[in-house]
Formats: sequence, C-alpha cells, structure tokens
Amino acid sequence: MAKRKWPQDKCCVCGRFIKLSGKTDRSTCFGSSADYEPPDPEWYCNKCARREYFSAIRKRSLPTNWIPAKWERKAAEKMGFIRIGPRGAAWGHWFDPTRGPIPDGYVDQRW
Ligand SMILES: [Zn+2]
Repeated sequence: MAKRKWPQDKCCVCGRFIKLSGKTDRSTCFGSSADYEPPDPEWYCNKCARREYFSAIRKRSLPTNWIPAKWERKAAEKMGFIRIGPRGAAWGHWFDPTRGPIPDGYVDQRW
C-alpha cells in the first residue's frame, strides 16, 4: 500500500472535517470486483466512533467491513462476537456465536 500523509478528511457519519492521523478510527469496506486498488478507508471522528460503538452494542449487530474499525473490534469483544471467514480467505465478517454454530466451510479467524 502506498505511503500517504494524513490530510483532513470527512467523518463518514457526521461529515465533519477531522484531522487524520494514524490513530483516527477507520474501516474499509469491500470494494467491488471492478476495483484494482483497495477501496479508501472511511473515517470516524471520536464522537461518531463512540456513538457507533454503543449503537452496535444496543442493536447487537456489526457492519461487514473488509478492515473493521477499532470501535467494531471493541464492540465485538464486548459482545463476544468472533470473526469468521471462509477457510483460507483473507477476509471475514463478524459472527454472533450465540446464534448457532459457525456455518459450514467457515473458520474462526481469531482476530
Ligand atoms: Zn463524526
């Protein structure tokens, strides 16, 4: 991945400009198969990251991102969600183990 500076960008939730740094929370969605480059990350300001975290816990659901945000990992940990994906795949998604066994062909990726 190309080295990049951390300019300003918009929070993907509230649209407020935030100064990006290596610590800015971000997630990266799955690109379409027509993309040659990985998709750009989506940024979260601190306020929205916290709000998303609590909202995920309240709804007991997490989005499916290629690279999950830090708030996602924190919420997943809190709810006991695990990261599963097809055997040998470099991607996965969150799974709530209380809803049943891991689907066939999927493995616990232990993120
Ligand atoms: Zn925001």
